[in-house]
Amino acid sequence: MPPEPGSAPVAPVAPVALAADWLARAARQVHERRTWLTELDAAIGDGDHGINLDRGMAAVLADLEAGALPTDDAGRLLAAAGRRMLGLVGGASGALYGRALMTAGARLTERAAAEPLGTRSMALIALEGAVDGIAALGRATAGDKTMLDALLPALEALRAAGPHEAATTVIGRAADAAEDGARSTIPLIARKGRASYLGERSAGHLDPGAASSAILVRCLADAVAAAAGIGDDDDADDEGAVA
Ligand code: ADP
Ligand code: MG
Repeated sequence: MPPEPGSAPVAPVAPVALAADWLARAARQVHERRTWLTELDAAIGDGDHGINLDRGMAAVLADLEAGALPTDDAGRLLAAAGRRMLGLVGGASGALYGRALMTAGARLTERAAAEPLGTRSMALIALEGAVDGIAALGRATAGDKTMLDALLPALEALRAAGPHEAATTVIGRAADAAEDGARSTIPLIARKGRASYLGERSAGHLDPGAASSAILVRCLADAVAAAAGIGDDDDADDEGAVA
């Protein structure tokens, strides 16, 4: 029997294609928001966060488009992107995001070798790896006014999801949680990184790393939605999501 019009299932997107699409979306969004991210960092840091991250992500995107990154395995792709970030992005965030991607990639490769992974499992494993990598290197915990204040609530949302919920729903909720988490850094006093030198004067400002982390999780939700054939509006709706 021919499929009913409009009911044909969307062909599953290969994990590595999803990872590549996420990286490309992230690079474009970071580029668009680089001035805002840098302004956030100018208020409580040294004003380089957007510039740094944009340089690293642009290099990753260029490598991706040139076919210079692994395309056989999502984990290997993310790990290679992490090594590139580590080599190119200065400051704390280069080391932290580099380590996050490398740990996420290593975990994905290891787990995918043992069992086939769906989109939700991949997101959970990758985000767990990212958080563990950042925490191991930066020794920050929740409430220290760092990128973890966006990523930990996103991870919590993935862990709390019901067993039958669609990946788009669950990862969309993780992106909402990351944006709420980023906003929650505004009243906090920074206890880690350059902003901690300001002490109480760091309160009243959005943490730049938490803001960029929320962008990265939103890009993942957008990539997953696009893969599911839902509203591929790319980054059109994301402007000002946290601000
Ligand atoms: P730098 O502070 O070296 O100039 P960036 O400006 O690129 O680096 O990144 C600053 C962001 O890095 C902060 O907003 C914060 O979110 C994050 N960060 C700094 N130190 C830590 C840490 N120890 N653990 C987690 N995140 C951190
Ligand atoms: Mg800085």
